[in-house]
Amino acid sequence: MRLFKEFHPDLVLVDLKMPGKSGMDVLEEIESIDPNVVKIVITGYATVSSAVDAMKRGAYDFIPKPFTPEEILLIVARGLEKRRLFLESLALKVEQERIRRNMISLVSHELRAPLAATVQYLEVILGGMAGKISSEAKEMIDRCDIRIKELLELLSRWLNLATFDPVNMADHFQDIDLSGVGRESIEILKPLAEEKKISLILEKPDDLPPIKGSKVSLEEIFNNLISNGIKYNKAGGWVNVKLYEGDEEVCVEISDNGLGINEEHLSRIFDEFYRVDGRRNAPIKGSGLGLSIVKKMVDAYGGMIDVESRFGEGTTFRIGFPKLFQP
Ligand code: ADP
Repeated sequence: MRLFKEFHPDLVLVDLKMPGKSGMDVLEEIESIDPNVVKIVITGYATVSSAVDAMKRGAYDFIPKPFTPEEILLIVARGLEKRRLFLESLALKVEQERIRRNMISLVSHELRAPLAATVQYLEVILGGMAGKISSEAKEMIDRCDIRIKELLELLSRWLNLATFDPVNMADHFQDIDLSGVGRESIEILKPLAEEKKISLILEKPDDLPPIKGSKVSLEEIFNNLISNGIKYNKAGGWVNVKLYEGDEEVCVEISDNGLGINEEHLSRIFDEFYRVDGRRNAPIKGSGLGLSIVKKMVDAYGGMIDVESRFGEGTTFRIGFPKLFQP
């Protein structure tokens, strides 16, 4: 054990019967120091039960005595390959995290800040504070203003997704009544629905139990799903928000009788930036980030989300929030 701590090997071969300390204890101690070191057990009495016991304590494999040099070399080579793959995936994760951090800093400082400053200048010009401009110029600047604001919205949605931290969310947990969240989201989205002549309906029992959650994240989930039901709908359509209590979950069902989603796209709609068929969506503005934000948040609640849809008929998103969720 002293040598293990000094040398920190990639792989150890442990005899089960040793003087002073048993192999099982050594395995357990190594497991608690670094569970990713590959541990191979050498056993003189290769009974199934001792092998199973060793595996339970984190061993990768075992080899019964006596063995030939070829046998031990083979098992060591396989163990080292596993270790190499583990170290490689660890390095990839570190690299991925470095890229993510760089992107966050690039988006917020190098992209968002200058765009926000540009919008301010454009609004000064549009407000006439920088002198008189022709109506043609005003129209063009207006369009620039709208397009840059859309870009800013996309950047802030992406930042929201990339910086989402479940631990931070759990710090703000309190008892939340989902009926209240549903009601407020409907209130916020009413103007958008009225513009498209879509009715919003809330169905809920009087005795819905509260869930432990953060209001901001739940509002984000409801707003995204309800606004999608409005956006991908036709005039005269409806969006129904149904809340009910299941055995182990509180359930939210948001359905609409809108455009629906073709089966082939259903498995990808929760992916970042995924939008169904550019042409159908072309007049409908969006970033393809809304559902990935929703999915990430539902996962952080230990919940599940699924979707059912028929092209041309409508879509239903169903979420289950576990009643006994402990962050
Ligand atoms: P977007 O910003 O494009 O709305 P989302 O991640 O919210 O991004 O949705 C991804 C895609 O899933 C959308 O582009 C749309 O094609 C499809 N979609 C989402 N919700 C609905 C819905 N209620 N009805 C039809 N299509 C939907």
